[in-house]
Amino acid sequence: MTDTLFSKIINREIPADIVYEDELCLAFRDINPQAPVHILVIPKKPLVDLAASTPEDEPLLGHLLHTAGKIAADEGYGDAFRIVINNGEKAGQSVFHLHVHILAGRDFTWPPG
Ligand code: AMP
Repeated sequence: MTDTLFSKIINREIPADIVYEDELCLAFRDINPQAPVHILVIPKKPLVDLAASTPEDEPLLGHLLHTAGKIAADEGYGDAFRIVINNGEKAGQSVFHLHVHILAGRDFTWPPG
């Protein structure tokens, strides 16, 4: 996997508004928020996307989702938030380092656009 700007954020080569970090993941506010709360949770392991994950990544993927729920709660929206993972360019992925979007603080429609 080639270096993306998210690996640069992990390595503190470019700044980000970091809200959470542990040994497996980092979470920071999206630079172009689509909701009052818009945070990205990324694995420190450089996975391109969800499709590139393997069975050995299952604990990591579970950790990303569990952490996303905790962050939503910490932000005051533990009861109503949306999780999005865009996989592939056609699905809206623009940064090719797996990331979980946490969106909260407004009403959401279904189906998503
Ligand atoms: P996606 O389109 O699912 O790949 O999401 C990529 C997200 O990364 C978008 O919501 C962007 O606004 C966000 N983004 C891009 N550059 C940065 C950055 N330097 N810091 C924080 N978020 C960023």
